[in-house]
Amino acid sequence: MIQLYIPLNFLGVIYREIKQSLADMERLFALLDQNREVADSKGATALVTQGATLAFNHVDFSYESKRQILFDVDFTIAAGTTTAVVGHSGSGKSTMSRLLFRFYDVNAGAITIDGQDVREVTQESLRAAIGIVPQDTVLFNDTIEYNIAYGKPGASKADIVSAARAASIHEFIESLPDGYATMVGERGLKLSGGEKQRVAIARTLLKDPAILVFDEATSALDSKAEQAIQAQLKEIAKNRTTLVIAHRLSTVADAQQILVLDHGRIVERGTHQSLLAERGLYAQMWERQQARQDEALASPPLELEE
Ligand code: ADP
Ligand code: MG
Repeated sequence: MIQLYIPLNFLGVIYREIKQSLADMERLFALLDQNREVADSKGATALVTQGATLAFNHVDFSYESKRQILFDVDFTIAAGTTTAVVGHSGSGKSTMSRLLFRFYDVNAGAITIDGQDVREVTQESLRAAIGIVPQDTVLFNDTIEYNIAYGKPGASKADIVSAARAASIHEFIESLPDGYATMVGERGLKLSGGEKQRVAIARTLLKDPAILVFDEATSALDSKAEQAIQAQLKEIAKNRTTLVIAHRLSTVADAQQILVLDHGRIVERGTHQSLLAERGLYAQMWERQQARQDEALASPPLELEE
């Protein structure tokens, strides 16, 4: 019985790893595909940012003609401030960040950065202006140095080290036998969820974008690691225009603006305090999270299952 149990369990681990790497590949291919969806317009010019005020103007969007995903989404993020988007799973939050990157074009309305329509600027300059700290960082099968420098091709070693320091991962890297030359990724050293996220933060710091997008992790990290990362994210978001797709209330509570998305529509907007006072969907989510917190003593995801 025991002999049978161990190999099966072992197979389970291998299966999960294969599934995970397939998922990573899929994501990469999906990104490449998405890049092909749109082309630079004739006479596209480079995006010029000055503080980067970001606006969605009455945006409608659907991936497929029969099913509309976003309806009249309209908001402005003042330069250097943070806006959080909360809502049920499937409500269209991640779609908003895909549109900002112009992986797809809107069906109606417009997305502008400092008044420039994202369809009128070169995709290269648009993507250079936006940094994303994804939910699950994909590391390349290369050195840890390469993985950080990916944020800014041609960066100097001194800049890479300073970004790693600011992301609190420099000392960890130095402790590795090959230091910055250590191979990571699927075929190299496996990093923990927290370490990978620090690499992503270092990458973003090196890139130094005017606009930041966080698609927050739900449960990959324990709450202590989560708190440390949150503090760092807050630090890099300072004075940058930031869109947070939020699952936990910790980042939401002090955002200058919170948007509540429901089935592709903004149904409530305001600050944490004003939304609680409204006693609507946001207040409901908050209460549910509080109740769960009392049960679990750990901050559960804000995103609710439908
Ligand atoms: P959220 O981030 O709020 O969980 P998403 O923005 O990822 O939601 O998805 C919103 C809706 O769009 C979901 O119903 C999802 O199934 C659908 N969707 C997402 N990506 C695609 C796609 N590439 N093609 C078709 N539908 C999609
Ligand atoms: Mg999402």
